[in-house]
Amino acid sequence: MSQVTAQGLYIHIPFCHQRCHFCAFYLEIHQARAAEQFVASLLTELRLYGEGGVLGPAPLDSIYFGGGTPTTLSSQQLATILATSTQVFGLAPGAEVTIEAHPGSVSQDSLANLREAGCTRLSFGAESMDQTELDRVGRPGSPTSTIHVMAVARDAGFTNINLDLMYGLPGQTLESWAISLRQTIELAPEHLSCYALTIEEGTHLKSAIQRGLVPAPDEELQNRMEDLAEEILCQAGYGRYEISNYCRPGFASRHNRLHWTGGHYLGVGPSAQSYIGGRRFGNVSDLAAYKAALGNARLPVSESDQLTQADDSCERLIFGLRLVDGISLRQTGALSFPALTQEVDKLRADDLLERQGDLLRLTTRGRRYADTVAVSLLTSLNG
Ligand code: SF4
Repeated sequence: MSQVTAQGLYIHIPFCHQRCHFCAFYLEIHQARAAEQFVASLLTELRLYGEGGVLGPAPLDSIYFGGGTPTTLSSQQLATILATSTQVFGLAPGAEVTIEAHPGSVSQDSLANLREAGCTRLSFGAESMDQTELDRVGRPGSPTSTIHVMAVARDAGFTNINLDLMYGLPGQTLESWAISLRQTIELAPEHLSCYALTIEEGTHLKSAIQRGLVPAPDEELQNRMEDLAEEILCQAGYGRYEISNYCRPGFASRHNRLHWTGGHYLGVGPSAQSYIGGRRFGNVSDLAAYKAALGNARLPVSESDQLTQADDSCERLIFGLRLVDGISLRQTGALSFPALTQEVDKLRADDLLERQGDLLRLTTRGRRYADTVAVSLLTSLNG
């Protein structure tokens, strides 16, 4: 098994101003008082983990504020959380500190404050550059606000910015997707994430589809949109380094790479997930329960699973296969488990995986069936 040195902190901010129709994440609608109480609880959680020494002694390589919409908190609140995290765990020189933001939830001042506080990277949820497509999925904001926020972020000194886009939106066509991609490229983000719309249980969108008000995503069209994104983005100088992620050279997300390469990450905040030393654990998905646990100086962990070595190797393989360059079989430890290596051979014979020396990766065809490959690998062990 390889020696893991990289480690990161994920901070989940569970507030949004409203819920998008496709979103099934745990979140609360932002209220100032609840947000203040949440920040106090979060600082307690960080300190408890600091005292417990859950992460190794090395400083953090990355901090990622996700959500929800982290920028529903004020820049002062975010700066306080960042300062406490740095104080508790330490931050390596040149570490990546990302904050997810909705384009409409920041200002020139707030971005300047975040930069000053030590944030190095922004990730804006643009989703589409077509207003009608945003409206159809109840996504607040506008293409104009995305264009505006990019200029403001550059003025504030940010040189590493991601934009999220979604494809397969109701009413979206190959032509409108190509326009969204081209208009996004004009904004020159260093990194782009392109996600296929998925229909989650319990969402407004799922119920609209069931009632026949909105068409269900067309899988074949989504596949063509995925191919088109690769073609247009690669022509524009972006490299595809993971199934959903593209970047300019040198701008791959370091935090996300932790997930794909078996790095350790501690998640704090309601519903946040962690992976440290072969153990996966997760926080309670309920703000009141989260606050109550920390009010009693108790960690709000509601589930914990110490993986067997075989399951750990299998998970590392599955996450690593998301990387276009693939993953070192030796580093995943998968070679020690015959059931796993036999399944790998079978998937290679089916043209879903390809191996070059120690490196294993999805074929172009396999990338489309990444979830099926993951299920096959898991089933081979736990059938
Ligand atoms: S902004 Fe993000 S987290 Fe909030 S409701 Fe929309 S998709 Fe969900």
